[in-house]
Amino acid sequence: MKFPSGLPIGESWIEAPATAPVVFPYDSSTITEAPVGTTDLARQALDHAVAVRETVGRLPSYVRRNVLQATHSAVRAERDAFVDLLVLETGKPLVDCRVEIDRTLLTLETAAEEVARLHGETVPLDLLPSGEGLRGFWVRKPIGVVVGITGFNYPLLLAAHKIAPAFAAGCPIIVKPAPQTPLATLWLVHFMRSALLENGAPESALQLLTGGPDVGATLTTDSRIGAVSFTGSAAVGHQIARDAAPTKVLLELGSNSALVVAEDADLDAAADAIIRGGYYASGQACISVQRVLAVESIRQPLLEKLGARLPAVVVGDPRDPATRVSALIDPRSTARVREWVDDAVHAGATVAYAAEGDTLGPIVLTDVPSGQQAWDEEIFGPVIAVRSVPDLESAFSSVNASRYGLHASVFTASLDTAFTAIDQLDVGGVVINEVPGFRSDVMPYGGVKDSGIGREGPRFAIEELTTTRMAIIRPR
Ligand code: NAD
Repeated sequence: MKFPSGLPIGESWIEAPATAPVVFPYDSSTITEAPVGTTDLARQALDHAVAVRETVGRLPSYVRRNVLQATHSAVRAERDAFVDLLVLETGKPLVDCRVEIDRTLLTLETAAEEVARLHGETVPLDLLPSGEGLRGFWVRKPIGVVVGITGFNYPLLLAAHKIAPAFAAGCPIIVKPAPQTPLATLWLVHFMRSALLENGAPESALQLLTGGPDVGATLTTDSRIGAVSFTGSAAVGHQIARDAAPTKVLLELGSNSALVVAEDADLDAAADAIIRGGYYASGQACISVQRVLAVESIRQPLLEKLGARLPAVVVGDPRDPATRVSALIDPRSTARVREWVDDAVHAGATVAYAAEGDTLGPIVLTDVPSGQQAWDEEIFGPVIAVRSVPDLESAFSSVNASRYGLHASVFTASLDTAFTAIDQLDVGGVVINEVPGFRSDVMPYGGVKDSGIGREGPRFAIEELTTTRMAIIRPR
């Protein structure tokens, strides 16, 4: 793979004063050195973004669509190399990185299509006599400079969900990936800046800063920006929302997603989904299954089905196509997950299953008491906690008792139960007989409560990143 060294700021790539190693989480080897951004470079990027705001806002639709389509083609041509890079910088299993690149391609494609659908409406103004004879319509205007901040777990996909809708909406964007995983995002930005250049658009429409909280905070607190679009932990998201006020902030945060298993569920399908949804990306996904609420009568058979499947979950080198669970992003995260499991056990939980080996593998806990982080907080590792409940009503109130509300799943054969769940679960998405991690680019995606504010999916992100401007005309 070839991309310029330095950071894409303004119309060129600028050498950063320092570099930091990017590490392969599985064996802690250094993949390469990546440039580290500074607050000074962040301010320069903001100046450039503000300078091109009007130009980018006025780019014709065909240019914005062409740029996104060209980026899509360039990324698709390097699909396998992107997968290899994602495996190395995230340590996520190969299968999950293949899903990530395919979803990234769909995000770019969908955003390109949405350019054609960015329009307003005509409205009747004669609902009172004073409006008679007036003509009214509204148009959508870009919100201005967007700052996109992303987490480490799906670096390419998360960046695509910031960059593509912002540009489709006519907004310049500065993106800041997580310090652990800057490489795939840098490469995506390289391709899109080439497409900008080829289409006569300013490269400053898309800039990238690496670095940590200081660089992120410099970007998000600048009063000249129109919106912050953040994906990461609730703690950081809430901090950004406080510091960035009154700027618009969109937050895609974490969760401790629940999967409810009703008495009439297909238990094989539920067990498959718990394993697939709980351990993909080694459990480092915002909508992975963490809490399983099983109605008492089926708890034991469900645990047996899980127990029969778990030994087949391959733990190990993420480059191996058979691997399903690999090392977490860093040793600190692994230590934290182990600590939360130990705390739960000391508080009365039972370890129903734990894979053996050096790499943290799948763990199933039962009877984790409330008040334990392994139940109440987002564990972000390969740990599932199964709790039995007397009935569905208790299951749904347990789902809703969480401070998070991203997605929840229910396994049931009953249409009534499905509709009750859709009606009563206080989450951003209810999924029936599928994993809560199911996400499609054509749906509004996001959470309630501490899981976030605003919606993604290109169509919905474009709505968030544009404002309506009303036009009223009295024809002469
Ligand atoms: P994190 O919150 O630690 O960091 C996210 C980003 O914020 C990083 O780029 C980081 O450098 C930056 N940052 C940290 N402090 C900042 C500050 N004060 N100002 C500005 N930027 C700052 O998250 P992470 O550990 O990288 O990612 C994992 C989290 O992301 C999990 O909680 C996961 O659930 C969440 N996530 C949510 C979604 C979603 O769509 N809802 C998707 C993926 C990940």
